Amino acid sequence: MSVRPAAVLSAPATAAAAPLPVLGRDVLVPLVTGGEVTYAALDYAASAPALQRVWDDVAAYAPYYGSVHRGAGYLSQLSTDLFEASRATVAEFLGCRPDDQVVFTRSTTDSLNLLAAVVPEGTQVYVFETEHHASLLPWRGTDVTYLAAPRTPRQAVDSIRSALAGCDPERPALVCVTGASNVTGELWPVRELAAAAHEHGARIVLDAAQLAPHHPLDVAGLDVDWVAFSGHKLYAPFGSGVLAGRADWLQDAEPYLAGGGASRRVARRADGGVDVEWHTTAARHEAGSPNVIGVYSIASACRALTDAGFDRLVEREQHLVARVRAGLAEVPEVRVLSLFGDDAPRVGVISFVVQGWNSSHFAAALSAEYGIGVRDGLFCAHPLVRTLLGTEPQDPGECGAPDAEPGELPQPSAGGTPISLR
Ligand code: PLP
Repeated sequence: MSVRPAAVLSAPATAAAAPLPVLGRDVLVPLVTGGEVTYAALDYAASAPALQRVWDDVAAYAPYYGSVHRGAGYLSQLSTDLFEASRATVAEFLGCRPDDQVVFTRSTTDSLNLLAAVVPEGTQVYVFETEHHASLLPWRGTDVTYLAAPRTPRQAVDSIRSALAGCDPERPALVCVTGASNVTGELWPVRELAAAAHEHGARIVLDAAQLAPHHPLDVAGLDVDWVAFSGHKLYAPFGSGVLAGRADWLQDAEPYLAGGGASRRVARRADGGVDVEWHTTAARHEAGSPNVIGVYSIASACRALTDAGFDRLVEREQHLVARVRAGLAEVPEVRVLSLFGDDAPRVGVISFVVQGWNSSHFAAALSAEYGIGVRDGLFCAHPLVRTLLGTEPQDPGECGAPDAEPGELPQPSAGGTPISLR
């Protein structure tokens, strides 16, 4: 079922006035009929709009836009300075070690594919089957072991320990793990997993796509080797992401992309070929004109979140999470999805199935009838959703629906309240 404007326009006026369980900012949607409804965007885990401060910073910089690392003019120099200062801001936000490198990418997916491209030959990769596809899939051509879904954080650590005990100590090993699940919101025991990896001489990369917007990060304190995240989930949706961490694997490998910016010196050889000396800084993997607005917006978001104070943000978020979960618990048809159990620490991401409803129909109804936007489908984590449902989802397409009961048609709401989120 698609959401047509007519369905939206028929939203009862009371929906506009009703207090909605908003995890993020309300967005006012002007309707063609002249009215306005409060639209509750509860899908920021998929992608979040820019914070006002990020918009303001980007708007203030936009007239001064210039090419980065490619010009002596004032605008070019200013843009280059902002670009490099953004790198320092991100390093500070992440709590990087002094020797770590911050590479700007397009997204978390891009960052993890970059890391997959630079791992030394023969690297053994360990990844839980519960990961987002961005962490699960980049390791093509690598010796990768997919670990079964743990049902407690303790099991996750034990599972890594026993897998690494069986790895070849002569070859490098890498563990890839999420900090917070985009499906359950549950926090993974990152510090313990890092310790377990290092006990066995392995390295660890943290997929912080969902963690970074919700929790202060501390690469050095957590002792993770790399961290990856996306600007668009950190309220900086201008097309940039980050891979930060140990320089050695990054600098020992061929550039991820070959081209200008990654090369320090290029010369024709007498035999007709080309000799290239690549940069040994983050620039090695940033060939091509960089997305300075994307990068600047990430730095702006890092500053905004730091200034807002994560303690306050976490406290407010935990309050909202508890409120929504308590509301959902009152609806017998709703099952909230959880891998580690109800008491597991989590960020503000909640997924649920509604008995008798196909999830995409339910999501469409939430939007049309109540002005609540949610994400539906398999959340780019098919194996995890399968485990959580305990069944094969009816439509396993990329964004297919985790059906509770396949084949059910949505009930016409007729102004009623089929399911309430509060
Ligand atoms: N990892 C997690 C946990 C995610 O939630 C996402 C996006 O939903 C990604 C990785 C991929 O992020 P992107 O689509 O920005 O590359």
